[in-house]
Amino acid sequence: MKHTAFALVFVAACSSSGGSPGGDAQTDAPISDANVTDGGDAAVDTPTRIYATFSTHNEQSNNLPCKDVVDPTKPDEYLANRAATIAFAKAIADAGGAYDLMSELSYIEQINLFDKGSVLDSTGGKNLLKYLNEFAPGKVTVDMHSHEKSGVGGFNSSDVAEALEKLGVPPNGLVGGFIANPSSAENWTRLRKPLKAVRSSYEWTATVLWGGGSSLHVDDPSASGVWRPKSPDEFLVDDATQTLPNIGGYADITRSDYATQLNTLLDLLKSDKLEKNRMYTITLMSQQCDFHRDSSITETAKATIAAHTADVAAGRLVWMTLPNVLSTWKTAYKSQPAILPNPH
Ligand SMILES: [Zn+2]
Repeated sequence: MKHTAFALVFVAACSSSGGSPGGDAQTDAPISDANVTDGGDAAVDTPTRIYATFSTHNEQSNNLPCKDVVDPTKPDEYLANRAATIAFAKAIADAGGAYDLMSELSYIEQINLFDKGSVLDSTGGKNLLKYLNEFAPGKVTVDMHSHEKSGVGGFNSSDVAEALEKLGVPPNGLVGGFIANPSSAENWTRLRKPLKAVRSSYEWTATVLWGGGSSLHVDDPSASGVWRPKSPDEFLVDDATQTLPNIGGYADITRSDYATQLNTLLDLLKSDKLEKNRMYTITLMSQQCDFHRDSSITETAKATIAAHTADVAAGRLVWMTLPNVLSTWKTAYKSQPAILPNPH
């Protein structure tokens, strides 16, 4: 997806309401495929698998697809997108997939304005994000992301976390997207410590990064796997002494062919080219603000899930939300790192 702003800070606070560590039931699914590698690391006996989730960001008004959706004078645009977002989330959950919705501040402000009265009939009396965060635990989660804003009217990721919490979506500490490249522009190392909000005394602490971008996406350090980035200059190096891990998105978010990139990863696994007993990750990005304008987004996602039922049955692929990816990495994979850069 396109990010028009220079800063690429997607702060995604993943819901911990998705259940127990290990998350989705799929984690415990029996593995029967001989292609899945086993026994490479005595410390970890969980086979190498690919963990995938669909994800979307909504953006501030400087993003063209979101411009009207987050315009407070255009409730029809927001309400149409609201209905389409529910439909997308239900489609993914029904198909057995996983979906991380990452929200910026303006979309939350639209909810504050318009999620009232009969609008809530379609969501069981709940606002949109609270509903989405709760209706399919382990399959759909609401995270937070923010490009932040300095100066007058400014806000940071903690302000977005607070806004989500006020909607009844507890922040879970996942930071979706940030600048990792060039290292001189990085804005993630400050997230190793608690972050105070700009607009209030609210304080929030990141527990995991997701993605990792570059200015204008010219050179995203996209990688698959979970690891603890060592430093601004060695983002793609694991440092076990660091406490803030990163979940790699792998799929280049400036490209729309996520199905191809998922296949690339699965082919590497099937040809035994991935490390044994490691967790590999991929995030399949769509544009939430286009949901009500382009029904093919939902159809493509459903088709992608349907195309990989054999991979799921064989244990090569697990659809899992990002908070559960983190807990599964810590438990089933004993925090063992994997880092597979996407060659683009
Ligand atoms: Zn964004």
